[in-house]
Amino acid sequence: SMASPALLMRVVAAAYSAAEKAATIVRNVMAAGDLGIVEKTGANDLQTKADRLAQMSICASLARKFPMVTIIGEEEVTADEVTEELIEDGHCEEILKKTCPSQYTGIKEEELVIWVDPLDGTKEYTEGLLDHVTVLIGIAYEGKAIAGVINQPYYNYEAGAGAVLGRTIWGVLGLGAFGFQLREVPGGKHIIITTRSHSSTLVNDCISALNPDSVIRVGGAGNKIIQLIEGKASAYVFASPGCKKWDTCAPEAILHAVGGKL
Ligand code: AMP
Ligand code: MG
Ligand code: MG
Repeated sequence: SMASPALLMRVVAAAYSAAEKAATIVRNVMAAGDLGIVEKTGANDLQTKADRLAQMSICASLARKFPMVTIIGEEEVTADEVTEELIEDGHCEEILKKTCPSQYTGIKEEELVIWVDPLDGTKEYTEGLLDHVTVLIGIAYEGKAIAGVINQPYYNYEAGAGAVLGRTIWGVLGLGAFGFQLREVPGGKHIIITTRSHSSTLVNDCISALNPDSVIRVGGAGNKIIQLIEGKASAYVFASPGCKKWDTCAPEAILHAVGGKL
């Protein structure tokens, strides 16, 4: 008989489905039209109903399956508001078929930390720049990002009605990353990708000092890492505090899984 899959692969497989459920919530809230915007620290630090519901869904779904795992989400929401329709109990079978890298097969629930950014690029979401938005679920072990899931709920939304909306990218260190086409920037060009809504003189001076061929300004840490691994940009430069571990954990794991460096 087959041995039961390693815990890490079961967590990634469940996170994949939880991220898809969260992406559906993100699309449904936008379609319903009432975003319920709340300013956190200011006008450039927002939370919407989609951030709140998506976080409740992801955290409650993963906590039910993996009760001893530490799960940390960006938003301050309480578990007692979680209704049963927010729970995702599925997992991605394809992920369970992959072999867990041997250095991770012995990991126990209490040794994992899951960092959840239920909606990365909220500012852009409220402005209708929908393809900047991602759902981030990162998995850390011994203080390092080792696996992650990035869902892009509005991938393909400008491709027309026939195109499949949304995609899920996932990766595990030592195994690789899947759900996208790995590419280098063509022609050896030096293209820097950076923030669009959290810029400053320091951020801009730092980019100028690097003398890039061009600069792409878009929202979201998840979105920027996708553009890096797909060869739209050569480096993501943001010389400022602001990004938190829920922003970096999933992107870092996926970037490192394909040989990049954060
Ligand atoms: P950005 O590249 O501006 O979309 O930022 C990427 C992520 O970091 C988003 O989740 C932002 O909310 C967060 N972030 C970056 N800079 C700041 C800041 N100055 N204040 C609050 N959040 C920030
Ligand atoms: Mg974020
Ligand atoms: Mg967020």
